[in-house]
Amino acid sequence: IEAVRAVEPRIADAIGAELADQRESLKLIASENYASPAVLLAMGNWFSDKYAEGTIGRRFYAGCRNVDTVESIAAEHARELFGAEHAYVQPHSGIDANLVAYWAILGAKVELPGLAKFNARTVNDLSDADWAELRREFGNQRMLGMSLDAGGHLTHGFRPNISGKMFDQRSYGVDPATGLLDYDALRAQAREFKPLILVGGYSAYPRLVNFRIMREIADEVGAVLMVDMAHFAGLVAGKVLTGDFDPVPHAQVVTTTTHKSLRGPRGGMVLCTGEFADQVDRGCPMVLGGPLSHMMAAKAVAFAEARQPSFQDYAQAIVDNAKALAEGLMRRGAKLVTDGTDNHLAIIDVSSYGLTGRQAELALLDSGIVTNRNSVPRDANGAWYTSGIRIGTPALTTRGLGATEMDVVAGLMHEVLAATQPGESKAKHVLDESISSKVSAQAAELLGNFPL
Ligand code: PLP
Repeated sequence: IEAVRAVEPRIADAIGAELADQRESLKLIASENYASPAVLLAMGNWFSDKYAEGTIGRRFYAGCRNVDTVESIAAEHARELFGAEHAYVQPHSGIDANLVAYWAILGAKVELPGLAKFNARTVNDLSDADWAELRREFGNQRMLGMSLDAGGHLTHGFRPNISGKMFDQRSYGVDPATGLLDYDALRAQAREFKPLILVGGYSAYPRLVNFRIMREIADEVGAVLMVDMAHFAGLVAGKVLTGDFDPVPHAQVVTTTTHKSLRGPRGGMVLCTGEFADQVDRGCPMVLGGPLSHMMAAKAVAFAEARQPSFQDYAQAIVDNAKALAEGLMRRGAKLVTDGTDNHLAIIDVSSYGLTGRQAELALLDSGIVTNRNSVPRDANGAWYTSGIRIGTPALTTRGLGATEMDVVAGLMHEVLAATQPGESKAKHVLDESISSKVSAQAAELLGNFPL
């Protein structure tokens, strides 16, 4: 850090401040974690300086033998960890991994005549009519993914993301009465819509998904099943999600981020069956430029960590902690979407506290509790203000907190939410400073027993 300080002290200060924030606040963001020192150190090295476009053994640059070593080891660990036929570890993020996967499926399944005439223009210049024409060129290929308010992700076909422009998209939701996925309704929708890609996986669904049934549905309508396991990859790696709930044996293509429950560096990955391997390996140069070899090194270290038996205990503890946190909240009167959780996350419907998600998120942040607002199914407050708070346990579990501490955390959260009043707008809240500072101090004291 002193080397950084000598060049740009403000960045050194920001790094120090970030460490202090992460040490002292309760990190309940379901997509965050704490990577190990080995993973962090593997990220910061001379591989960052090397160009290596291409794939293992087939590079557009000379001098890539050490990158080949790193990428081969990372891919081998990934295949072994998840039991996959093929692993592509280059994607820089989850979005990249999904884009690689979508292009791979299009490449494997669809002829793409006529794209050339758009080459002179930037993608951002394409009008809705151009996109419609492009989609016609693709044969109006269809994607069916989970709706955002049910817990799906932007990259599963929503308009602000390119997936929503490339594909004629529809989404499936959850049963309005239970908040649970309704496979019969999904099957009926898939039969009627006949998508090329059925997308499974989520960012904010607190229950298990049966990927065996999803594959049956995909096969029945001639679709490819692609599962984005970004959120729960750590639970798959840790053998908590097995059988019907492990996507890898069922989906032809599985994408993931590496930095959430999997506890690796920021990054993405695509796993697939042999049928899609060649197309997936075209991720660079189709979608990606030179691979981040230093990040592939860190991915290899993280996958090696996840292959240790202790990672299975960690994954089980994530789920046990999520259940304890959810139960602690519900016992104190909080309303949870689907009345609980089976995985690493839960969604609190904060409308029962008279708050929007935005107001609740800010009140919790004032009190040293970091969460994010999230839509609940059929959210009356829309996707910006929302009516929910998403919470997850991967990070606190890494710190070593257990079920007893989760009950303390539930008590702190409930105290803040119950004491917060809505302010003059959906983004403003009123919380007595004496409560926020008391809860912040209690949170810091609790975390002091679990040093980072
Ligand atoms: N897929 C899912 C299910 C996610 O939850 C996320 C991120 O939150 C992503 C993809 C995108 O990952 P990244 O932020 O690495 O692009």
